[in-house]
Amino acid sequence: MQMTHATLRRPKPPRSKAVLNGIEHLIRRMLKKHKTPFMLIKRAVLEKQYERFRKCLPDVTPYYAIKANPHPSVIKSFLSLGTGFDVASASEMKEVLRLGASPSKIIFANTIKSPEDIAFAKKRGVRLLTFDNEPELYKIARHYPRARVLVRIKVANHGSVVELSLKFGADPEQAFFLLRKARALGLVPTGVSFHVGSQSKNVENYLQALEITAGIFDEAEENGLPLKIVDIGGGFPIQHFDNEIGINFERMAQAIKREMKERFGRNIKFIAEPGRFLVGPSGILVTQVIGRTFRNNKNYYYLNDGIYADFSGMIFDHARYEFKTLRRGQRFLSTLAGPTCDSLDTLSTNEEITELYVGDVVYVKNIGAYSSASATSGFNGFSPAKIILV
Ligand SMILES: *Cc1c(COP(=O)(O)O)cnc(C)c1O
Repeated sequence: MQMTHATLRRPKPPRSKAVLNGIEHLIRRMLKKHKTPFMLIKRAVLEKQYERFRKCLPDVTPYYAIKANPHPSVIKSFLSLGTGFDVASASEMKEVLRLGASPSKIIFANTIKSPEDIAFAKKRGVRLLTFDNEPELYKIARHYPRARVLVRIKVANHGSVVELSLKFGADPEQAFFLLRKARALGLVPTGVSFHVGSQSKNVENYLQALEITAGIFDEAEENGLPLKIVDIGGGFPIQHFDNEIGINFERMAQAIKREMKERFGRNIKFIAEPGRFLVGPSGILVTQVIGRTFRNNKNYYYLNDGIYADFSGMIFDHARYEFKTLRRGQRFLSTLAGPTCDSLDTLSTNEEITELYVGDVVYVKNIGAYSSASATSGFNGFSPAKIILV
């Protein structure tokens, strides 16, 4: 739309007569009580995702990977639902223990752990640890004798949005050797873990990883080293856009379930470390336009949250989001940017969006995971969104 100087200087917001949907009514209500930016986490959605997981994979115990969203209220919600927890550091361990998690339901799933963190796991009775290399085994044996260990293997991450096998994972051919070494060092070799990469839409990654894992279980069994636990990791995908196709957790889970049944004995225990799947769909980020201008033949809208805060997933998580407004009307190709002084803090240069005015809301759904978790504490003085459980 062609803008004149007059409209730029003193835009008069027209009354919006939009029909609002349920989420938008909720946002309107919350706007009366809270300043933006804020992130609503819907408890009902956390529960729904948990139930979906349990229903589709009834034999797999979920350990919520708290790095996806470590907000205490989120952890407490999963605590009351009964999940275990996947932690990567002593701080994360302390946090879930402080909130009441049982040490027996925590997995220390970082294959590289500092000696202090290993000692802390021992002190607090966190029993299950992952590893993927020999030097780590010596370290664990020294600081935590008799710990139960899972060897993490490197598996294909084809089609996953976030690669998680570039830095971690032992060669599957080495797995049995490493487990035997663990036993020789006085540890308790307990099983195998893997991670197919985050937002993994390709079920083949899981099936292949399970097949490789079954081979390791057979080899270990034949050599007098029976294993008990298969940890299928995280990676389960979610939908970010309303009209996104190609993501079907139910169908994926069915194939995974079949593979588990076919390849493993009934005495084998399965666990998983879902992060994104459990918390991602629950989050709604609500921001407001704090400035607008006309540049490069386009409307530019500056929001009060950006790349340095709750949209940090656009960098670290390679995420793309669907931006929505409460105002309806003809859409124009526009740019959305964050509030900081850095040009990197641009959220989209090609949004088809209705004309917005200062104070108007821009919100994003399905942004509960890897968003606030990786926000800086307030670069340039712009604080990240307050998290509100509703
Ligand atoms: C990040 C991570 C997870 C969670 O992954 P999602 O893709 O969010 O499910 C689980 N386990 C490990 C070891 C991880 O690093």
